[in-house]
Formats: sequence, structure tokens, C-alpha cells
Amino acid sequence: MKPLVAIVGRPNVGKSTLFNRLAGRRLALVEDVPGVTRDRHYADAEWEQREFRLIDTGGFVPGDDDNLLKQVREQAQLAVDECDVILLIVDGRVGLTAADQEVAMVLRKSGKPLLLGVNKLDTPQLADDGPTDFYKLGIKNIFPLSAEHGLGSDALLDEIIKYFPPPEVVPEPDPDAPEKPTSVRVAIVGRPNVGKSTLVNALLKQKRVIESEVAGTTRDPIDSQLIFEDRHFILTDTAGIRRKKSIAQRLEKFTVIAALKVMERSDVAVLLMDATEPHVTQDAKLAGLALEMGRALLIVVNKWDLIQKDKKKEDAFRDELKLQLKFIAYAPVLFTSALTGAKVQKVLEMAGKLFDQFHFRAPTPMLNKLLAHMVDSNPAPIVDGKPLRLYYIAQVSAGPPAFALTCNKPKGVPESYKRYITNQLRETFGLKVPILLFFRERPGQAKRNARKRPQGTKSLKTRR
Ligand code: GDP
Ligand code: GDP
Repeated sequence: MKPLVAIVGRPNVGKSTLFNRLAGRRLALVEDVPGVTRDRHYADAEWEQREFRLIDTGGFVPGDDDNLLKQVREQAQLAVDECDVILLIVDGRVGLTAADQEVAMVLRKSGKPLLLGVNKLDTPQLADDGPTDFYKLGIKNIFPLSAEHGLGSDALLDEIIKYFPPPEVVPEPDPDAPEKPTSVRVAIVGRPNVGKSTLVNALLKQKRVIESEVAGTTRDPIDSQLIFEDRHFILTDTAGIRRKKSIAQRLEKFTVIAALKVMERSDVAVLLMDATEPHVTQDAKLAGLALEMGRALLIVVNKWDLIQKDKKKEDAFRDELKLQLKFIAYAPVLFTSALTGAKVQKVLEMAGKLFDQFHFRAPTPMLNKLLAHMVDSNPAPIVDGKPLRLYYIAQVSAGPPAFALTCNKPKGVPESYKRYITNQLRETFGLKVPILLFFRERPGQAKRNARKRPQGTKSLKTRR
């Protein structure tokens, strides 16, 4: 689990500006998915080879001052409950405000590592004489910043990483060990009140494993283990089966942070939705997150007992959902009632199937036969005036399945053709999980190109 760093502060102090500056590259898996990647509040970042996740706890609903204070307090609580290091940002030009004091008090009480960034000090001069009343907040670690101009962030990052727990030692892979993990790790995610805890409890009525029965598992207490059809499942749910629900857990933003945390430790994400109250934007965000993290996704429409049962309704609901979540339309959809237990077994069944697909490995000869067939039935397009040639394909990893295609124009493969290949792989091998494709040149291709193409011919060819 990567350490989580929260950025906290009242509106307009420059939290999002700082967030964008500190955030690293996005994961390459998804192109922009409208409505999902927009308005994001978390990002992967790295400093001095330490990876961490940055959470922008901002995003306020406008209101009066009382309302603002309440929101700032909630946001601080969220940071305290969920994050490893907290970064409080204040506006160095405006000076100390009541909201700053309020939030600092909540944060200080938590005893969590706390740093203060005094932002908008855009010149070295300003940084030197930065207003001194911020010392009143009682935070020792103070950093002058200009998020807009990128000043002060190096020193800040140097300090942030000091508070991270020592890096996890990843054991050397044992060459004799089976490549596929043996336990099916399932993350249960969803908005508050959709029925996550109820579902987990219903599932645990299956054969439950006492923690001590599993040798060598030191797990977070939020994990529950069970055996279903001779398979070992680990369910993770931050909704708090055993933990009291905190204020933070009722906040929408918590949903995303919680989902991040549990998905990181899982292969299959079960996204629970409320049939009576579909909330597509938020649900789509979670689905997008699963895709971005490269996890298998199972969509479960819960509280189906409250809907007049009929097959047509199911089909209509599913079709509408596939339309709304077009970017992940391959994910299976189930309809359950966690309360009555209807269809909850199916969740485990399907999670097991998705797990197998997630760790699927295709035999290379079969892949290359498929490649020949694909190119035959839908010839590769022309790229830069030359036909795209796909020479061979191999699976490079699993969990999720990733394939490398060797070709003459790795950078020019059109999106539509990538989609075609992905869909063919999906259909041929029955994969309802994310599929990654990589395109690369044949070894030595660049040299061959240089030899073959005397200078000047390229421009002649491309001009028509
Ligand atoms: P948030 O509401 O805390 O997320 O604040 P934003 O990041 O949206 O920034 C609020 C405003 O402050 C924007 O107009 C930013 O351009 C501006 N801002 C952010 N950082 C700096 C800075 O370092 N210097 C100056 N002068 N303005 C900044
Ligand atoms: P969580 O916040 O996602 O963990 O949701 P809970 O499991 O705490 O459930 C929230 C509320 O929805 C509780 O009152 C549950 O009894 C109710 N609930 C959960 N699943 C179902 C269901 O399948 N049908 C109905 N009718 N109510 C449900």
C-alpha cells in the first residue's frame, strides 16, 4: 500500500494548483474517460524513488461561513482518518484566518505527521519575510511555497517522505512458485449505504475461515476470509464491518479513497450500486478507477428486492448501465439483494471466474493464429503511407492480461484498430477483464529503416 498524503485547507489557498504540481504522471491505461478522469482528487506521485498517493481533499460546495467551516472540519477529519501525512495549506498573502485555525486544531489533535505550506509566496523576498503569524497554528514544520511557480516544493517533498513507513520489502519471486496467486482477493466498493456491509455479512454465511486457520496471513482486520466452492476468498471492505462508521465515511470523497485502498490489494473489484438510487456519476468514477488500476470489475446492482422483479427490467437496467459506462461495457452485471440473500452466491461465483480471466495466460501459437485471422478478416490500416504490418503477438504478463504486438509502425496504430484487436482477444478467450496492448518494433528495425530509406524519399512519398 502506497502512503497517502492529504492536502487540506480552505478554498482558494491553492490546493489544486499544488496537487497538480506534485502529482506524477497518470497511469497509462486509460485515455481520458469523460466524467471520470475529470475532477480527479487523487494521483500517483514519486519523490526520491518513494511512491505515494496524493489526495486533494478540497472541492467545496459553496455556502455561508458556517457551512464552510463544517466542510473544512469534515475534510480535516477525512485526512486524519485515512492518510499517513497531512499537508495543511494556507494563503501567505491573505494571512491567518479563522478557518485555518479551526482546521489546524483538528489536525494537530490527531497526532498524525503534519506539515504547513504557506502558499502564494511567489518571490524569494516574499518567502523570506513570509508572514509570521502562521506560527500561531502550532505546527513546527513550515514551508514557504509558490504552487503556481513551483517554488518550495522540493524541500516540502523531502520532508514529506521522511514520514513514510519504511518501504515494504518485496520478496524475490520464487521461480518454483505458481505464478497465479491462490486466493481470490475481492474489493467491495461503492457509495455509502448501497449495502456493502450487508453484502459482506451475507457472503460470510458461506463457509467462513477463522483468521488463524490461514497460515502466515497477517492481514488488516477489514479482511474477511471464506471458502466458497473449494476456493479461498479474501473480501476487503472499508465500509467497516467491524469498524464504527466515522463522519468521514459518510462523505462521498471517502468512497474514492476507500476504493483506492482496497482495490490496491485486490484482483477483482465488486462495485455495488443501489438499484433504487443509481448515481451514475459517482458510480462511473469508481468503475473508472477500477479500470485505471487495471482491476477486474464486477458490477452488482443491489437492493433488487425493492424493484418489481421481472426479467425485462433487468435487461433494461443492464442496457442503460452499459450505455452509461461505455468505457467498461465488458464488465458483467449482477442483480442482488444483500438483505434477502438473493443471488449473493453469484457474486462469489462470478468473482472467481473473473479472477481466472484476470490471471489468464494464452498459448503463444494460438495467439499468433488469432493474429493471422484478425489481419485476414480486417486488414491493418495504412499508416504514414505504408500498410501497418503486424508480425507477431505474445502475452507479456497476466493480472490483467497484457499482450505485446511486434509491428512496423508501433506509434501509428490507430485507436480503432487497437480496439478491434482488444475485442477479438476478449471474444476469443472470453475475457471480461481489462486487456493491455503494447506495440513495439522488431529488434533492429530502426537500423533497417535508416538503411532502406535514402534521404528525401520520405517527403516524396507522403506528398500526394
Ligand atoms: P484551492 O481552492 O485551494 O484548490 O485553490 P486553487 O488551486 O484553485 O487556487 C486558487 C487560486 O489561487 C487560483 O486562481 C490560483 O491560480 C491561485 N494560486 C494558486 N497557487 C498560487 C501561487 O503560488 N501564487 C499565486 N499568486 N497564486 C496562486
Ligand atoms: P454500506 O454503507 O454500503 O455498507 O451499506 P449497509 O450495508 O450499511 O446498508 C445500508 C442500508 O441498506 C441498511 O439499512 C441495509 O439494511 C439496507 N440494505 C442493504 N442491502 C439491501 C438490500 O439488498 N435490499 C434492501 N431492501 N435493503 C438493503
